[in-house]
Amino acid sequence: MIVDKNNEGAGCGQVEVGGVVFGGTRLVLIAGPCTVESREQMLEIACAVKEAGASMLRGGAFKPRSSPYAFQGLCEKGLEILAEVRERTGLPVVTEVLESSQLPVVAAVADMIQIGSRNMHNSVLLRDAGVCGKPVLLKRGMSATIQEYLYAAEYVLAAGSRRVVLCERGIRTFETATRFTLDLSAVPLLKERTWLPVIVDPSHGTGKASLVPAMSRAAVACGADGVMLEVHAHPDKALCDGDQSERPEMFYKIVKELRLIAEAVGRTI
Ligand code: PEP
Ligand code: MN
Repeated sequence: MIVDKNNEGAGCGQVEVGGVVFGGTRLVLIAGPCTVESREQMLEIACAVKEAGASMLRGGAFKPRSSPYAFQGLCEKGLEILAEVRERTGLPVVTEVLESSQLPVVAAVADMIQIGSRNMHNSVLLRDAGVCGKPVLLKRGMSATIQEYLYAAEYVLAAGSRRVVLCERGIRTFETATRFTLDLSAVPLLKERTWLPVIVDPSHGTGKASLVPAMSRAAVACGADGVMLEVHAHPDKALCDGDQSERPEMFYKIVKELRLIAEAVGRTI
């Protein structure tokens, strides 16, 4: 398979997104709210996470909510806000696409297309994302085996793209004390099996803001090429995933701690 580590020449192990490189010595810190709520919210949080050391901005415009009655995102308006905030801050933007028909509008704005956990098995979307011309952040399906995950990445690669980044975001187990079980062993395992960069999302992986700092440190320690964290200026008022969102002050503290871990494993931030 193209994705295989021993498939020499398939990919160089690095993926560049708007000047940010995944898979190099420098770790990539993606931060931002779960969802784009307003222009003011995004401008405030983008400036705060940039100041703290984030290299990319996240924020969902089209949201894959478990309940059809939950906030579904600002959609096209959310994309407009992301475009303006990118312009103002210089931070490259990653945002999710839920279906192929959204690819043209999302790709027109996003520096990187996110395919979420719930869509990891959507082979049509994977193939279409692979030809859209933008790098893809492919999150692990919450019930996907490593083999199924690699097949999903292969769909994107087989469509012609070489710019795919994997993201471990927790899997379903019998445990209910955390939202998901963050499978950090997936990081060194994926690194053994594939040449693709691998990042970790401890926010969705734990569902609890109090656990995110420790699991972020663990992610860097086990070899992740970066982390993606949900950060919100007012988590208690967040329209989505407030329980797992860090305040900007805490994000600043996490980045400081990650610098120490990064240095210990021969990386920088
Ligand atoms: C997200 O990162 O916005 C998200 C919805 O995560 P996941 O697809 O991992 O649930
Ligand atoms: Mn979220």
